[in-house]
Amino acid sequence: MDTYARFPVELARGKGVWLWDTAGRRYLDCVAGIAVCTLGHSDRRLREALCRQLGTLQHVSNLYRIPEQQQLAAAITARSCFDRVFFCNSGAEANEAAIKLARKHGQLVRGIDGRDGRPPLILTAEASFHGRTLAAVTATGQPRYHQGFEPMVQGFRYFPYNDTAAFEALLAECEADGPRVAAVLVEPLQGEGGVNPGDPAFFQRLRQLCDQHRILLIFDEVQIGVGRSGRLWGYERLGVEPDAFTLAKGLGGGIPIGALAVKQAADHFRPGDHASTFGGNPFACRAGLTVLAEIERRDLLAQVQRSGDLLRQQLEELVARHPQLLAGQRGWGLLQGLVLRPEAPSAPQVVKAALAEGLLLVPAGATVVRFVPPLTIKPKHLREAVQRLERALLSLV
Ligand code: PLP
Repeated sequence: MDTYARFPVELARGKGVWLWDTAGRRYLDCVAGIAVCTLGHSDRRLREALCRQLGTLQHVSNLYRIPEQQQLAAAITARSCFDRVFFCNSGAEANEAAIKLARKHGQLVRGIDGRDGRPPLILTAEASFHGRTLAAVTATGQPRYHQGFEPMVQGFRYFPYNDTAAFEALLAECEADGPRVAAVLVEPLQGEGGVNPGDPAFFQRLRQLCDQHRILLIFDEVQIGVGRSGRLWGYERLGVEPDAFTLAKGLGGGIPIGALAVKQAADHFRPGDHASTFGGNPFACRAGLTVLAEIERRDLLAQVQRSGDLLRQQLEELVARHPQLLAGQRGWGLLQGLVLRPEAPSAPQVVKAALAEGLLLVPAGATVVRFVPPLTIKPKHLREAVQRLERALLSLV
């Protein structure tokens, strides 16, 4: 169906940070399937692990114990502040699970059962992005994604990101007549919404308020999780532990997988509460296990910190060379945004011009060009990417 405004390019093959189209043209990939291909394209270790898994067991139902799923849950909990994991297949689905968990938390812990006709509330940020299923898109604090699909799901209110006073005011309003708020769902760094990093002071206050009210604090780490920030999890950049977080994208390195991880105190689901046919099957979990193992074996977190610093420096220099076009740069690790001035060409125009220079980039809103390359990208590729981007920018003025 006509759901995507696609570029006129057919990608046929990939190796590392490079992609080739069906006409044989080569592209430097700073999109990585939008923060998915953690290890780049056609990674030998991932390929071999998945081929072995295909020869052993691809799929069985969650009616049975699945060793690969148990191992991946153990790998996530051993490396994070969480105790238990539910697996699904995408970011939106992980957030749907989180939203159901939030409602259950509201009932069990805060006594909000909605029987007075007032739904339990989930607070999310303006400019957030949480996915396209009906509840996830309602959680998404961008009206343009709601248009045409009303009525939205009940029980969501929005606050300006990183604005402590506004959050406190919204919370006070919602809780004026007693407990109404079940959870806060928020990205540690907003990806789609314009590459806006979370402010540690805001997040620390959020944690305090959620503790005071026994409100569930859930982080959406679908884009920033799994090493992209230079730390394994985005919450480590903020000095705040959420009660639960969601993952997808980079966890499978290109194989669809999503996850909701919770601390013991938020482990509210009981058999029958939630399920997924494909979620956590042996093949997808083998991908997740291999990605996590390769991040450690190749010391990719240290590499992402170094390459993130280099990319930031390269982008800052680019901004300094073109102050009439560029307003600045922001981001963490290998999720960086180049901010265009309002009078400059738009982000989609820059992305299109970059494609003509053999560079894949993705917009994050109208004025931000986003870099989300494979975590394995080398310094020479980042320098090459910024050179190509500069040529693209100059081709537009
Ligand atoms: N949450 C965040 C922060 C995202 O960036 C995205 C996708 O871009 C999603 C959720 C939705 O993920 P999916 O497209 O896998 O449903």
